[in-house]
Amino acid sequence: MKRVTVLGSTGSIGRSTLDVLGLHPDRYGVHALGAQRNDAVLLEQCLRFAPRYAVLVDADAAQRLGAALRARGSATEVLCGGDALEQVAADAQTDVVMAAIVGVAGLGSSLAAARAGKRVLLANKESLVVAGALFMRALRDGGGELLPIDSEHSAILQGMPADRSRWAHDVREITLTASGGPFRTVNPEHLETMTPQQACAHPNWSMGPKISVDSATMMNKALEIIEAHHLFGIAAHRIKVLIHPQSIVHSMVTYHDGSVLAQLGVPDMRTPIACGLAWPQRLASGASWLDLARVGRLDFAEPDAQRFPALQLAYQALGMADGACAVLNAANEETVAAFLQGRARFTDIHRANAAALERTPIDDASSLEALRELDARARRDPRAELARRAR
Ligand code: NDP
Repeated sequence: MKRVTVLGSTGSIGRSTLDVLGLHPDRYGVHALGAQRNDAVLLEQCLRFAPRYAVLVDADAAQRLGAALRARGSATEVLCGGDALEQVAADAQTDVVMAAIVGVAGLGSSLAAARAGKRVLLANKESLVVAGALFMRALRDGGGELLPIDSEHSAILQGMPADRSRWAHDVREITLTASGGPFRTVNPEHLETMTPQQACAHPNWSMGPKISVDSATMMNKALEIIEAHHLFGIAAHRIKVLIHPQSIVHSMVTYHDGSVLAQLGVPDMRTPIACGLAWPQRLASGASWLDLARVGRLDFAEPDAQRFPALQLAYQALGMADGACAVLNAANEETVAAFLQGRARFTDIHRANAAALERTPIDDASSLEALRELDARARRDPRAELARRAR
């Protein structure tokens, strides 16, 4: 019986994770659940999965949750604050940590899990984008295991040689597929007027708002290039992106002998989640079966650099000083939040991100504290820029 902690349990990935765990109560128990402030959903989850701990960052929400659980006779202990997320991630009684908090807010707890030697199921790609070297070192020092949950990186892991020492020798390149998001065929001149609702209407995947906007700009793929670079130790120029609107081929590994290994499946995050939980074994996920005859055709195309300028920012940041990827991520979190709140236009996102990458000075990126400072600094430029535009 493995004990699993799910951080970000109230979000899209968190809920899918609990769906998969709910199918296998004989193999997995829930040790802790954590989120920011959604006490109503966390209450339902606690009543169903009876974790030892439930954590909310928001103090008022934590108080409400505690009272509601006590009234129902639950033994779940409620903790509060960001430190408590790190505490449950590193708890000796948990074997597996699903890191599914959105944004850089998830970095502290995923690092804590890595340092404590857990099996880390990493949905929070920001951990690797912001602190790739630090995170991989923490994992090595702690003796933990990293299993990617992004469907693309899960696909690549499944296509890589089983013997990790062969990765650098045998693999020529990896190809991340990208659906192209909701604006793949929209006239670029109309992008400026696109609303948050349109940006979040992804054709294939149902996801949280931040990653949905990132899919529309393709910043999500840019972050995935950086994530893949750290995960698989592959140079940026050997990581390619291919538009594949059906989202059936989740990514591919090209070998020096000309073989290309692809992983296919219906677009359902429960598949990579189950893969990460059980790896290298397999586990029923609840996802439906792929019927290629019904799909009929699979299309592929080069991404249009003008429509999706965000992609280039990943290669640019990877070629700059350590810390540039953290700057890019921070600026993007800031601009996407502004767009979702109606304070920025869709096309402002790229403009402000590119400017922040150019203009933010980077002195030190060698520790978590330095990265947090850099993150805060990188948000100032787009914040000021967007406020100027709004006036
Ligand atoms: P959602 O927006 O659906 O959920 C976010 C989760 O994070 C919620 O549980 C939320 O809690 C919690 N959270 C937000 N801010 C904080 C904070 N400051 N401290 C603690 N918890 C916080 O996001 P997704 O599930 O879509 O994405 C989660 C991660 O997984 C992201 O990094 C994303 O890039 C990655 N990912 C997602 C995929 C998807 O299909 N959705 C696919 C691949 C990767 P609350 O509800 O209380 O606010």
